[in-house]
Amino acid sequence: MERRVYLDNAATTYVSGEVLNEMLPCFNAVFGNSSSLHSFGREAQSIVDRARDRIAKAINAEKSNEIYFTGSGSEANNWAIKGLARANKSKGNHIIVSAIEHDSIIESCKELEQEGFEITYLSVDQTGIVSLAELLHYIKPETILISVMSVNNEVGTIQNIKAFAKTAHENGIIFHTDAVQAIGALKMDVQDMEIDAMTMSAHKIYGPKGVGALYLKNGIRIENLISGGNQERGKRGGTVNVPAVAGFGKAIEIAVRDLTVNQQKLKAIRTYFLEKVQEKIPYIYLNGHPQQKIQSIVNLSFELIEGESILMLLDLEGIAVSTGSACTSGSLEPSHVLKAMGISNELAQGSIRFSFGKSITKSDIDYVVEKLVSVVEKLRSISPLTKAGRGKKGE
Ligand SMILES: *Cc1c(COP(=O)(O)O)cnc(C)c1O
Repeated sequence: MERRVYLDNAATTYVSGEVLNEMLPCFNAVFGNSSSLHSFGREAQSIVDRARDRIAKAINAEKSNEIYFTGSGSEANNWAIKGLARANKSKGNHIIVSAIEHDSIIESCKELEQEGFEITYLSVDQTGIVSLAELLHYIKPETILISVMSVNNEVGTIQNIKAFAKTAHENGIIFHTDAVQAIGALKMDVQDMEIDAMTMSAHKIYGPKGVGALYLKNGIRIENLISGGNQERGKRGGTVNVPAVAGFGKAIEIAVRDLTVNQQKLKAIRTYFLEKVQEKIPYIYLNGHPQQKIQSIVNLSFELIEGESILMLLDLEGIAVSTGSACTSGSLEPSHVLKAMGISNELAQGSIRFSFGKSITKSDIDYVVEKLVSVVEKLRSISPLTKAGRGKKGE
């Protein structure tokens, strides 16, 4: 195959060399079960301990024992929502989340609704921002949990997490945030931001797939999601995936170490990409917040054409992008995120997410822009939606 450019880093990243090196010995040299009492087990346990320390340090948790490993970010989100709600139901049955959360939060809330919990889904403005005033408006004595994602995975909008957490605490409510897309892009300090519970995942930050973590401040009660042995201080059954956990620890250490350098680079790449695209392709819209956003995600709507067609033609050129999450699952429903932002169905269906990784080059961008221009021109020239020359070049 010829050239390939991967612009789907918000879906997953490759495992970096440093991370892989950290993981490799855990597959054979140090293969013990970290729960075992003998030396093989103790060696594995010390690797798990080190990873836990690294994660705690990366997010400035007060204690390493506030980090619990899970099988994914989705599991950590399920656990946070269901576990915190169920453990605190004697205090009330009302939960507030935003309408643009990851499906693992939204679907967990739907399950809780079946159990008698009441869920409020906060709307967002056109840029994807949740308003503090609206949050305040919905807080009531029965509210026990608020969960708002730090960074949205489709449009990259950053929320005012510190203010939301402060408001939650002023009202005696637990605050959780899904920080999967925030780690490595923003400084996440759980003590400074007053976060009670926070979801993380390794494979969005150059770590392995199938491992996540929940930060849970000591003293916060949670019900177990996975019953089993006494792993993770009795809170999450299942033999710990030592290689994955070791990789996660290394990945988050690197993500925090290189945060500034990576963000500067990504900002330059983003600006370069947007300038070129906006110069060469008419009738496009940038979805998300113009300033309060992470650098690695650019979500664009292309008038008069379908995102899926763009995705498939770019794929033929070796370029990997994604459409709204819902579309990739085979349904025609536009993304719930763009819908909540008030983007029309047509523009939502014409949206593409470009998510840049840390090894992207300017020459990659040149290649992508060249192919994108011709793909969009081609699709618009055959689009039944093309009326009065709208979207055609030179008209
Ligand atoms: C990827 C992602 C998740 C899910 O993490 P997995 O480890 O893939 O289950 C949750 N929230 C956000 C915002 C994500 O981007």
